[in-house]
Amino acid sequence: MLDDTSSAVPYAEDANSDVLRRPPRREFKARGSFVERCEGCNLPTLNCLCPFRVEAQSRAQVWLLTHPLEHHKPTNTGRLIGDVLPATEVFTWYRTAPDARLLSLLADPRYAPFVIFPDDQPDYAERVVGMDAVVRSGQEDKIPVFIIIDGTWRQARRIFRKSPYLDALPVLPLRTQRQTRYRLRKPASQAHLCTAEVAIELLRQAGDIDAAEILDDYFDAFNDSYASSRIYHKIEQPTAAMHRLLSRQRREAASTAE
Ligand SMILES: [Zn+2]
Repeated sequence: MLDDTSSAVPYAEDANSDVLRRPPRREFKARGSFVERCEGCNLPTLNCLCPFRVEAQSRAQVWLLTHPLEHHKPTNTGRLIGDVLPATEVFTWYRTAPDARLLSLLADPRYAPFVIFPDDQPDYAERVVGMDAVVRSGQEDKIPVFIIIDGTWRQARRIFRKSPYLDALPVLPLRTQRQTRYRLRKPASQAHLCTAEVAIELLRQAGDIDAAEILDDYFDAFNDSYASSRIYHKIEQPTAAMHRLLSRQRREAASTAE
């Protein structure tokens, strides 16, 4: 527990200490069972996120390696990435049974995968690369892939250490000044970003500016919608991020109608 909250790691759903204090399954039930949820976005229907969903294109792809306990949490932000970037892959991590599709994608020469992880331990220092390696892989006609481990910090470290198929991959630490804007779980530090925020900053640094901005707005809309529903407040006036998403949708609709 101390171990978790004291590490200055840019991951952060782990900042979320309630995961560690009680079984997440129970927490999810306790919170979820009284609330009517939208089947499309899994948010409370009071402030459904569906009207703000916008898809984007990006050169880089995101593959999520998700801890099984994280999948069913409605506050999970990893799923927002897949809503915006249709090429996103989501794999559930099981220690003894690696996902067969993930293994075949890792062996596919079209992709240049990078594991996103802090470079705070010496034993894999020779695998650590910078964003320039991502840009280079794009120039070599490969599809850069950010493999983001989606779980608490403790879960993420376990996944990183206990997945032999990740051992050969370059490790890309996310370096950013961003402070988290995630409002649904309490971070141990403002420097701990949630999974969607990690993806946003990676895309931005890799040059996928449009995708990063759309995902950032969608993440904001998610945050505000969810946080308002928790206090039974219906958002009547769309926020600035919601406005930008809606006008993107209108522009897209107009251009496909032409
Ligand atoms: Zn919805």
